[in-house]
Amino acid sequence: MKTHKTVVVISIDALHPDSIKMAKPENILRVMEKGISTLDGTSVAPPKTLINHTAMALGKMPEESGYTVNAWKPGMPKAEGESIFSLAKKSGLKTFYVYSKELLGFLATEDVDEQYFAGMDSLSEGDRIVDETKEDYFLFLHISGLEFTGMEHGWLSDEYITKFQEIDAGLAGVIKTIMEKTDTTLVITSDHSGHEKIHGSDHPEDFKMPLIVYSDMADFSEYNNKSYKTVELKSLLSKII
Ligand SMILES: [Zn+2]
Repeated sequence: MKTHKTVVVISIDALHPDSIKMAKPENILRVMEKGISTLDGTSVAPPKTLINHTAMALGKMPEESGYTVNAWKPGMPKAEGESIFSLAKKSGLKTFYVYSKELLGFLATEDVDEQYFAGMDSLSEGDRIVDETKEDYFLFLHISGLEFTGMEHGWLSDEYITKFQEIDAGLAGVIKTIMEKTDTTLVITSDHSGHEKIHGSDHPEDFKMPLIVYSDMADFSEYNNKSYKTVELKSLLSKII
């Protein structure tokens, strides 16, 4: 059977790296065991959703790209410049973008072949794409939920940890399928975290995020247990796309 190239980035919104030790998420832990990881990642400032996803996609700091506003609505101009989607497309991959917050539509440019604003259904949309796609592809899958639990119950609260375990369980199929393949890369990361019931502030906890990479396409060991910033995602992916 001919294999196809698969590159999947999962961004779990508002995931505090300490929650991995606390929640013991079995699926994500399997990726960590077989891949590389660091819990010493940080957001670019300010540690907010659109600012950091834009930094991930464009590989530029907000002050460099000029994209410093954490707001966007349909009909407004979208991100310009080379992105992880344009790199993937140039490499011959079909590009998918699934996101669960409207403002992330800012990154759904013409280099995205199929985009889905999936709200809270992004996990099942991701499952479907991973199951059905039989060609080379790149998928960026954004998963919402933890930021709301954090705001209501607090970051790293029991409720937050339970929510993270639910997200991990929801990722079981995607993780299993990708790790059973060859020509495959899976990145699991986040945009920011929070402290108490607050996020987006200049508190150091709000900037923390993890990076986990499993790949048989390239060696990512230079990232293992090292400090990392959200803005480095594009250069990381440029090893393979
Ligand atoms: Zn966020």
